Amino acid sequence: MQSEHYVIIGNGPAANSAADILRKGDPDARITLISDEFFPYYHRHLLRHYILGKKSKEDLIVRPISYYRENRIRLRLGQKVVRIDLQTRTVFLAHMEKVHYTRLLICLGGKPRIPEIHYVYSEYFTAIKTIDDAEAFREQLPGIRSMVIVGGDLISVKMAASFLETGMNVRFLIDEDAFWPLKLDDDQRRDFTERLSARGAEVISGDVLAGVEPETEGGFRVRTRNGLSLSCDRIGAFFGLIPDVDFLVGSGLDIDRGILVNEYLQTQFEGVYAAGDCAQVYNPDLKNYWVSIGWDNALHLGQIAAHNILGSDKTADLPPLNLLNSDGVKVQTAWWRDL
Ligand SMILES: Cc1cc2nc3c(=O)[nH]c(=O)nc-3n(C[C@H](O)[C@H](O)[C@H](O)COP(=O)(O)OP(=O)(O)OC[C@H]3O[C@@H](n4cnc5c(N)ncnc54)[C@H](O)[C@@H]3O)c2cc1C
Repeated sequence: MQSEHYVIIGNGPAANSAADILRKGDPDARITLISDEFFPYYHRHLLRHYILGKKSKEDLIVRPISYYRENRIRLRLGQKVVRIDLQTRTVFLAHMEKVHYTRLLICLGGKPRIPEIHYVYSEYFTAIKTIDDAEAFREQLPGIRSMVIVGGDLISVKMAASFLETGMNVRFLIDEDAFWPLKLDDDQRRDFTERLSARGAEVISGDVLAGVEPETEGGFRVRTRNGLSLSCDRIGAFFGLIPDVDFLVGSGLDIDRGILVNEYLQTQFEGVYAAGDCAQVYNPDLKNYWVSIGWDNALHLGQIAAHNILGSDKTADLPPLNLLNSDGVKVQTAWWRDL
């Protein structure tokens, strides 16, 4: 019998926790991890320390490359998946190579979300998701004395705390969408404002971004609906992460906010699973799907998917402790760990 070839798209916590389980459960199988990032598996929550020079690139790495060699996991870094053919079980890479799989696990993660209304200003925004983003920001940091942060999410709060440490002037323009997919109530909003103000940030709430213009000397002018005009060196856009599944549209997979999977994390295609930030998971009790973003959640979902690929029927039914309803999508929020 031909041995399995498990192909995992992604190299974050979901992908790596799945690879570990697959290797233990099927010692003879081929396992391939594909990531479009060149850097090995790293802690994204430490990027802010890297930006400030408190951590080196090596400090961010979760596990060395040698781990993959020792565990016979083929790690393909810097290779972008551009298409999947689910009929022929083929993954197409940007450099024209094809990879065939017997079982596929999609762990694409999320990308910074820009609400549609602000799309037109995207080119002026700075978002930090990857080590490359952090590296670019770190290089520019000495020239950045002021920053306006629009949106504001769990990532931005930590980032802002780091920026404030450098003596940077930080202004927060929190709008309705700030903590997407969570909705803040008035108490939470007040608490958020107080915490940031105590750290030295200026928090502007009840107002929204109405325009951005680049300034001749390289900075930007941010205008708000209430008539404020804020000059700054950089505009940070932090509206949460959104599943990064654009290139899968047309593949035949069901996609809504993320890749739709059942409670076993399987898509409607036999042998094709999704886990982590990119998965939108059905919960039979809720009779609805939930999406979630967070490191521990990704670790956990990756393990569940791998067990099921190996033949178990584990369900991804973690307790809905903190269930919110955002725009008609049920959102599990217990995942975000304060790392
Ligand atoms: C700055 C920052 C700080 C954070 N802080 C925290 C925190 O404090 N606590 C917390 O719980 N969570 C935090 N998070 C969120 C957490 O990092 C994510 O929820 C988690 O990494 C999701 O894991 P994942 O495996 O689903 O995807 P990711 O870690 O996003 O990994 C996705 C992988 O897919 C690859 N990929 C994507 N598209 C393609 C493609 N087309 N072809 C090939 N490869 C592709 C990427 O290269 C990457 O390797 C933070 C995130 C960021 C960006």
